[in-house]
This record gives sequence, C-alpha cells and structure tokens, in this order.
Amino acid sequence: MARAKPSANKAAEALLGGLVVRSTGSWQTVRTDDGRTWECKVKGNFRLRGIRSTNPVAVGDRVAIQPLADGTAWVRELADRRNYIVRRASNLSKQCHILAANLDLALLIATVAHPETSTTFIDRFLASAQAYRIPVLLVWNKTDTYTADERAALDALMALYRGIGYPCVALSALTGEGMHALHAHIDGRTTLLSGHSGVGKSTLLNALVPDAAARTQALSTVHDAGQHTTTFSQLFDLPAGGALIDTPGIRGFGTFDIDPREASHYFCDLFALAPACRYADCTHTHEPGCAVLAAAAEGRIAPSRYASYLSILADKDEAKYRDAP
Ligand code: GDP
Ligand code: ZN
Repeated sequence: MARAKPSANKAAEALLGGLVVRSTGSWQTVRTDDGRTWECKVKGNFRLRGIRSTNPVAVGDRVAIQPLADGTAWVRELADRRNYIVRRASNLSKQCHILAANLDLALLIATVAHPETSTTFIDRFLASAQAYRIPVLLVWNKTDTYTADERAALDALMALYRGIGYPCVALSALTGEGMHALHAHIDGRTTLLSGHSGVGKSTLLNALVPDAAARTQALSTVHDAGQHTTTFSQLFDLPAGGALIDTPGIRGFGTFDIDPREASHYFCDLFALAPACRYADCTHTHEPGCAVLAAAAEGRIAPSRYASYLSILADKDEAKYRDAP
C-alpha cells in the first residue's frame, strides 16, 4: 500500500476504501464499498517503482479516499497492483500513462472484414499483453456479415491462434449470435476491451452492459471527457458480475518496453523453438543454426506470426534512429 505523505492538519481522518471506476486525467471517480461514488483528486505524491507515469492512479485501482466538505474527496492511499497496462505519452517520450490496473483478461475484438484486422495488429497486441502477463481472449466479431470465403479465413485464423494457446470466440454483437460463449470467459472477471476503430467495440459494450451508452453520455457533460479521449477510461459492471474497462481512443497498448532481445519471449510459438537455436542471443533473423528460421522455412510456424515478430524488431530500429541526437 502506497500512502501519500499526510498534510500537517490531517492527522487521523477517516478513510473509505473504494475502486477507481472512471478516470479523466485530473479527476477520478471512485466507488466506495458502501456503493456511493465520489469525484476525487489525487492528494500527495505517489511514487511508483520503475515507471514514469503522468497519472498516479488508474481505473481498476483499489484506493482509500478522504471525503471533503464539498462532497468531493482526495485519493490518499493506493493498493499494490496485480498488473497494469500503459501507453506512451507520445512516441518520443519515455513517460507513460497508466490505462488500467488489476486486469484478469484483455479482450481484443477483431474482424475478418468490414474492416479487416491485420494479423500484425493482433500479434502486437498479443505480445504486449504477454509482456504484462495478461491473458487475452480473441473475439471475432461480425460473423453475420461473412461470405463463405471470409468464414473460411476466420476458421483458419481461429485455428492458428487457438493452436498457439489463445482462446477465440466468434460472434455477432449485432445479432447476438455466439454471445453465450463469451459470457463463460468474462463473467466474474475484470476485462479490458480493445480493438481498432470500427470492429464493434461500442456495439459489444452496449450489448453486454445495457446502460453503457447512457453512462458514457452522462459523463461527457460532467468533465468534458470528449476532450480527453487519450487519457479517458471507464469501468462498467457486468450484470452477471465482473466488469469491462473501456479506454476510448486507445487502439492497443504500447509495445515500447519490449526489448528487441526479448521480443521473441512474447511470441510463445517462436519462443518455444528458441532453445534449439545455436546461439543463446539469437535474434532469429539471419543467424546460422537458427531453429526459428528453419521452422519458418519449413512452414512449421505461421508466416504471419514471423512477419509480425520482424515488424516489432523493425520498430526498434526506427525508434533508435528517431531517438538519436
Ligand atoms: P467501434 O468503433 O469499435 O466502437 O465500432 P462500433 O460499435 O461503432 O461499430 C462500427 C459499425 O459496425 C457500426 O455500424 C455497427 O453497427 C457495426 N457492427 C458492430 N458489430 C457488428 C456485427 O456484429 N455485425 C454487423 N453486421 N455490424 C456490426
Ligand atoms: Zn534463432
């Protein structure tokens, strides 16, 4: 438990335990264990080990708050996190913004068409989640729209990702087809909702949380959340227990803290082969005796997975170039 240094005139005030359910940057909405919600500011200086963050407290955090006379409150204590995800403040910055904390699952919505989600996007998301040790569920949406060819492509993708160990659910957020299978994964858990624009994230959220649209609407008039879409996140309770965390405006989450030497660690299918490489520090790009290259050449690992791995390595080269003085 991190505790902010108490101010001199506040010695023994009563604190209330609660959960951060909404974050707009400077204001946090906290739901205390008695069911009330409080608009809160963070009081004091929470030092976090290992990261430089623009926000000390995030949606999903357990906190203790100190109510004030005007009905708002200060966040005074922050419980240790099981995990958290971040995005960089900007491409060139080492500073990051904590998007959400204490997640059980990250749900990535993908579509085979209308629009097509690239395997590179999916694989980068999976690698990031692996780096944060957050399990991923792949949800393939818009099954009601697929042609026979698209359905075949979907089946192949689901076979690929299930083969690597990622569970998949195919559904239509619009018609409700396949939704029952989703509940088995998300009910009772805290799940991050992700997906690039147009895949049906809002449609799915509204199908799962009946008043979600109304609640998002109400908020935007309170704190002008629309102006803070890059730092805004919100937690929605699921009717059957558990919660969804929505971070509008965030497509994935950052891969910035992946060291190129560790990138293959986050591709579990590639990583499984690495012990057979001749060199312990093999990058699996050009080295003689590389088991990953051999498997790629023989079709034992998916070409799309290997291409995604290379694309993350290429990012690093670009970042080095950009960061050079
Ligand atoms: P978001 O950008 O990810 O929040 O996507 P939206 O939820 O706004 O959905 C984008 C468009 O796809 C909207 O026109 C939705 O009605 C449509 N859509 C979402 N899910 C489905 C689905 O399962 N089937 C079909 N046919 N359309 C869908
Ligand atoms: Zn290798």
